Amino acid sequence: PPCDFTPEEYKGMSKDQMMQIRQQNCNPMTMKVTSYKRPVFIHQGHMQWLWDVDGKRYLDLFAGVATVSVGHCHPRVTEAAVRQLKKLWHTTNIYVYPPIHEYCEKLASYLPDPLKVIYLTNSGSEANDLAMLMARLYTGNFDIITFRNSYHGGSPQTMGLTSNAAYKYPVPSGLGCTNTMCPDVFRGIWGGSHCRDSPVQTIRECSCPQGCCVANENYIGQLKDTFATSVPSQIAAFFAEPIQGVGGAVQYPKNYLKEAYKLVRERGGVCIADEVQTGFGRTGSHFWGFQGHGVIPDIVTMAKGIGNGFPMGAVVTTPEIAASFAKAVHFNTFGGNPVACTVASAVLDTITTEGIQQNSLEVGTYLLTQLAKLRDTYEIIGDVRGKGLQIGVEMVKDKTSREPLPVHAVGEIFEDIKDMGVLIGKGGLFGQTFRIQPPMCITLEDADFFLAVFNKALFKYMERR
Ligand code: PMP
Repeated sequence: PPCDFTPEEYKGMSKDQMMQIRQQNCNPMTMKVTSYKRPVFIHQGHMQWLWDVDGKRYLDLFAGVATVSVGHCHPRVTEAAVRQLKKLWHTTNIYVYPPIHEYCEKLASYLPDPLKVIYLTNSGSEANDLAMLMARLYTGNFDIITFRNSYHGGSPQTMGLTSNAAYKYPVPSGLGCTNTMCPDVFRGIWGGSHCRDSPVQTIRECSCPQGCCVANENYIGQLKDTFATSVPSQIAAFFAEPIQGVGGAVQYPKNYLKEAYKLVRERGGVCIADEVQTGFGRTGSHFWGFQGHGVIPDIVTMAKGIGNGFPMGAVVTTPEIAASFAKAVHFNTFGGNPVACTVASAVLDTITTEGIQQNSLEVGTYLLTQLAKLRDTYEIIGDVRGKGLQIGVEMVKDKTSREPLPVHAVGEIFEDIKDMGVLIGKGGLFGQTFRIQPPMCITLEDADFFLAVFNKALFKYMERR
C-alpha cells in the first residue's frame, strides 16, 4: 500500500532540529547517536517497508533490531490492538483479567513440557533480570556464567551478563557474573568455519569426529576451565542465546549446548535460553532457537518478536522453579498489560496461520545460499552464517588474516546499502558483522533486491579500495 506521506504532515520535529541532527548525527534531546552518518528520519511503516519523511521507501531487513516479527503495522495485529484499546488499557495483577490468562495458556502451548509457568515483563532486560533472580532463589547458588560477546540487556544486573565493552559502564553491575569463551568457530581460537573432511559442510552443522568435534571439545574444555578457575563448585545458572544476535549471529558447534547444559546441571545450575532474538520462528526450522540444539532449558526468556514492536517480554519456567520463586514478592505494574497481551496473542495467531516460520526458513535458506556465493566472490566477506532469518555476514580485511574490516569501511558499505533503499543491522565485537533479521514476512523478491544492492555496495567499495 502507498505511504500516506505529505511533507506538511511531518510535524514531529522542526526543520532546524532535523538539520542539527543531520549535521551532528546526534539527537540533542536524547544525546543518542543514530546508526547512520546521514540519519534516516522515519515516517511510516507497513509490513517489511518503511518510509522516511521525504517519502523514500526502504526495505527493512533489521526490523527495529529483530523485533517487528510479522510486519510493521500488520493489519490483523493492528486491528486487535485497536479493539483492545477501546475496551481496557490496564489492570495490573491486583485483579484477574481473563484475556491475560488466555494469552499465557496460548503461549505455553508453544513451549515443550515442563516449561509452562509464565511471568510477563516489559522488556528483554527485565525478563533476564527476573530469570537471574529465579535461578538464584531456586538453586541457592549465586554465580552465573555467560558467553563473551553476548548481549543480555542494559539494566545494571544484565549488564553483567552482557559481555561486550561497548555496552559496559564504570558502575557496579552484574555481581556474580562470569563470562566464558564464546564457541565462535570463525573468530574464536579453535575451529575454522568448515569441516576439514568435507569443505561444503559447515562446522556448525557437522558432527564428524574430526575438525568440528575437536573445536567443540576445546570450547567445552574452556567451559570446564571456567568452572575450575573462576566460580565456586556450585553455580546458579548458565545463560546463552541459541544463536547470538548483537554478537553477530554467532553459531556454536553442533552439540556444544547439549554438552554445556549437562555440565551446568552437574554443578547444580539451571540452563537459561535467552530467546529474545531467536524465538517466535526466527530461526526457521524451529519455533524456538533452543530446539535447534536438541536441548530443553529450565528457563526461557523472550521479548522483541513477542509483541511485533509492542513493549513486552516474558520468562517461562517449570512449575518446580516457579514454586521456589513464589516465595519472593514480585510485582511489576505493566507486565501483562491487556493491550500488550492482545497484540502478542494476535502475533502468535499470525505466525501460525500465515506460515511465518516456514517463510523464515525458506527465505532465510535462500539468502544464506546466495550470500555464501557472495562470500566466495568477495575477499572481504569472511563468513556467512545463521539460520532462518537470523543471519550474519562477517566482514574482514582479507580471508587469510580474518582481521575485522575496519569500522569506517563497514560504515561506508552500510551507508551505501541504506542509500540504495535497504536497512540492515551491524553487530559483533568490532561492529564488523552485518545483521539481517527482517520482519519474517519478507519475500524471495525482497531477498533478491537486497542481494543486488549488497553486491553493488561491495563492488563499489572494492573499486574504491
Ligand atoms: N537479550 C538479547 C539476546 C537481546 O538481544 C536484547 C536486546 N538487544 C536483550 C536481551 C535486552 O532486551 P531489551 O532491550 O528489550 O531490554
